[in-house]
Amino acid sequence: MCGIVGYIGTKNCIPILIEGLKRLEYRGYDSAGIGVIKNGLCRVIKQKGKVVELENEVEKQNTSSTFGIAHTRWATHGVPNQINAHPHTDTEEKLFLVHNGIIENYTVLKKRLELDSYEFYSETDTEILVKLIESFLNKGNVLCKAVQYALNEVKGTYGIAVGYTDEPDKLIVAKKGSPLVIGIGDGENFIASDVNALIAHTSRVVYLEDGEMAEVYRDRFEAKTIEDEEIQKEIQEVTLALDEISKGDYDHFMLKEIMEQPLSVKNSFRGRLLFEEGSSKLGGLQGYEERIARSKRILICACGTSWHAALVGEYMIEQFAGIPTEVEYASEFRYRNPIVTPDDTCIFISQSGETADTLAAMKEAKRRGALVLGICNVVGSSIARESEAGVYIHAGPEIGVASTKAFTSQLVVLALITILIARRRQLSLIDGQEIIRELDLIPAKIEQILELNDEIKAIANEFTGAKNFLYLGRGYNFPVALEGALKLKEISYIHAEGYPAAEMKHGPIALIDDNMPSVFITPQDSVYDKVVSNIEEIKARSGKIIAIANMDDEKIGSLVEYTIRIPETIRMLMPILTSIPLQLLAYHIAVKKGLNVDQPRNLAKSVTVE
Ligand code: GLU
Repeated sequence: MCGIVGYIGTKNCIPILIEGLKRLEYRGYDSAGIGVIKNGLCRVIKQKGKVVELENEVEKQNTSSTFGIAHTRWATHGVPNQINAHPHTDTEEKLFLVHNGIIENYTVLKKRLELDSYEFYSETDTEILVKLIESFLNKGNVLCKAVQYALNEVKGTYGIAVGYTDEPDKLIVAKKGSPLVIGIGDGENFIASDVNALIAHTSRVVYLEDGEMAEVYRDRFEAKTIEDEEIQKEIQEVTLALDEISKGDYDHFMLKEIMEQPLSVKNSFRGRLLFEEGSSKLGGLQGYEERIARSKRILICACGTSWHAALVGEYMIEQFAGIPTEVEYASEFRYRNPIVTPDDTCIFISQSGETADTLAAMKEAKRRGALVLGICNVVGSSIARESEAGVYIHAGPEIGVASTKAFTSQLVVLALITILIARRRQLSLIDGQEIIRELDLIPAKIEQILELNDEIKAIANEFTGAKNFLYLGRGYNFPVALEGALKLKEISYIHAEGYPAAEMKHGPIALIDDNMPSVFITPQDSVYDKVVSNIEEIKARSGKIIAIANMDDEKIGSLVEYTIRIPETIRMLMPILTSIPLQLLAYHIAVKKGLNVDQPRNLAKSVTVE
């Protein structure tokens, strides 16, 4: 689930691997390791903790090599410690392997291997895979065959890289459910789980698909399936610039990404607005517009922040296109028996495009004949490749684990899809034109909100001692309440819950006292007066309140202790604006608490395991 980097060439691989791991640090991990072949022997160095600790250890041991693989681990099986860190090795320490993902049938395989007298030193599922490959090598197979036999017995997900001292001229990679990409160099090749780790060296890449593997040599690579069928892979050019994945002058990626939103939002609608027709143009949906507009039902599946964006999408589509829309957690969808028919359009949202649950849900919907669309940020990702059609959000690389700019860009894309469908159904030209005009004005309004950064920081400083928070909103701003609470939980470790404001009195109100602050998202829309009543109810119980309100709301100031005033837009687009002060609030609370906002504990950026 975390990071893999590998190198085979003529240079010393150590700095390349360490730098590659550093570029993957944003994904969240708990330990790191490196394995090289030196003088015909395998050398593995592993450390619990950060990559810099591994770097220090590697320096101490003064190792160099022209062949190596490295890993950052996000523990799924076995505690984060040095022994469980990757690479894992065979009995004789000739074979070494790094793995992202989960070997689901590891207990069965382990029992079988134990009967054959194989011994295990770690608690990981990964070690079972190395020993399984070893068992096939011991039967006289070459490495490639041994890996194929082993992978054909494995259930679960993997992105792997393997080195073997008896075949030191190649490294082997394979993929199922966890991304793996080969970077093509000149007399040298790279492998990684994420192009970010490669682009300092090459922009020419080959993406492996599920069930594919490759033998990577210094000067070439040979791709095949794990069933040993030869395949031709296309080399693609990636257009990512290095400065897009560096922090610049900001203290954290998260702050940089929050501040980038005027631009990232603009990039999401650039070239896609049809002012005269009051509609949108989405190249990725070309040819599918009518089928989507005629769907009997729309289902949106996602996880985490993307799931919150999906909820806003539901409100948009039902209001403007009049198509019944449902939102599902991808993890639930895939394991129940969902009713999906060929008349349905299913939309899958994932920033990384690699989210395991979302990808699996998508495959299930496809199997059941629905039209399957993806909304992703990472170009060329699995969901983007495997959906029938889709829309990139074009937010640019999002490195901070807590999603910010991807969320607002997802909302923009959902609005664009809504208009595209709605104009083919019931939305009038005038109303369509208004939405397009308002969308175009959003980046300037975000600029205005970002100017409140210091003000929001000052408010945040008052609340670092809070143990619990309640976030409340109605209508379009109910999902924003959920997202605001999630941001706070993720990076400040303060327990927070989002609720529809009116639901508050059906339970959560019992929690209210002067230690339990509430954040109200209360723009002046049709439910404003109702939300004001909810504010009164909290006040009556001594609860402290922060309100996100419109600039010209004259009433709110006298009702609550803290008001963050933001510009107005039409209701369906308000979440793009109201979510931004909540991102800043969570960010400043976490920073004031001295926490690592870019790599919050226990979290991973793209969740490629179940
Ligand atoms: N399941 C493996 C482990 O726990 C791999 C974890 C990862 O993807 O980083 O070691």
